[in-house]
Amino acid sequence: YAAKRDRRGFELWEPDGTPDSRDRLETLEQLRTALDTEELVPYYQPKLDLRTGAVIGVEALVRWQHPTRGLLTPDVFLPLAEQAGLMRRLALRVLERSLSDLRGWREAGHDLSVAVNLSVSNLQDIALPDQVGMLLDSLGVPAQSLTLEITEDVLMADAARTRQVLDGLRRLGVQLSIDDYGTGYSSLAYLRALPVNELKLDRSFVRNLTSDPRAAAIVRSTLQLSRDLGMTMVVEGVEDADALAALCEWNCDIAQGFHVARPMPAADFLPWLSARSMADAAR
Ligand code: C2E
Ligand code: MG
Ligand code: MG
Ligand code: MG
Repeated sequence: YAAKRDRRGFELWEPDGTPDSRDRLETLEQLRTALDTEELVPYYQPKLDLRTGAVIGVEALVRWQHPTRGLLTPDVFLPLAEQAGLMRRLALRVLERSLSDLRGWREAGHDLSVAVNLSVSNLQDIALPDQVGMLLDSLGVPAQSLTLEITEDVLMADAARTRQVLDGLRRLGVQLSIDDYGTGYSSLAYLRALPVNELKLDRSFVRNLTSDPRAAAIVRSTLQLSRDLGMTMVVEGVEDADALAALCEWNCDIAQGFHVARPMPAADFLPWLSARSMADAAR
């Protein structure tokens, strides 16, 4: 069978009667159904402000609670959704759930924000800004508390159209973030051209942070760059205390990773948050 990889590293299967194409068709039918049910849900991974130690928000990461196959991660079904033209529905579903969970947390007195990932096809969707605007209005969530994460490969698609969508989103007042920063083709051109507020350094640069001086140099200089551009830098994939300590020392803004917390279901988030602040108070 023919497979290619897109920039997020997913396998894209060509519909050419491959051995598993019947499975794919079945999974696709199930996915269409899942989009109308509670099977497709965001999990939330906390984002930590390294200067204050406070949790400032979460990233929504879609999961599929499949009736027979268990909890599926996006690498299993996003390529399929993309091929089948289901990304608008998926994005709106994740946005709706995330924004309504966020409203609940804010009503409970937590000044948090939520970040939602968009795909290349979402950024080609001229209707997206209006739809996001309507969701924000109907759920009563301030636009500034929503961040939309895009990857550098959006520039590879129709640049004029993408720009129109990004400008529409910015006009709403939502924040824009470049995800997996440093792994795309045109990082610097992108930074110069696009109206983004946040840089999210790819986790590959964090892996050997404390043992590899080159990785450390890249993190520190990207930090400086983001500061000079007036952008916030998030470092993702922080897996251990040493990396977190190094990032604190370098005055990195925000960290995210398994060392802080793994992505969790909505119902676990407030209990996690209060357990954390109790531990802080006892320290
Ligand atoms: P991403 O946006 O770069 O998200 C970070 C990924 O790294 C997540 O994988 C997260 O679970 C994982 N991660 C977080 N901390 C650590 C860590 O310390 N170590 C390691 N090794 N991994 C960590 P996940 O949830 O499987 O998502 C994979 C990708 O799928 C995301 O990468 C994003 O590109 C995409 N994605 C997830 N949810 C959505 C969605 O709702 N819509 C769209 N369009 N894409 C999504
Ligand atoms: Mg992301
Ligand atoms: Mg990322
Ligand atoms: Mg990624």
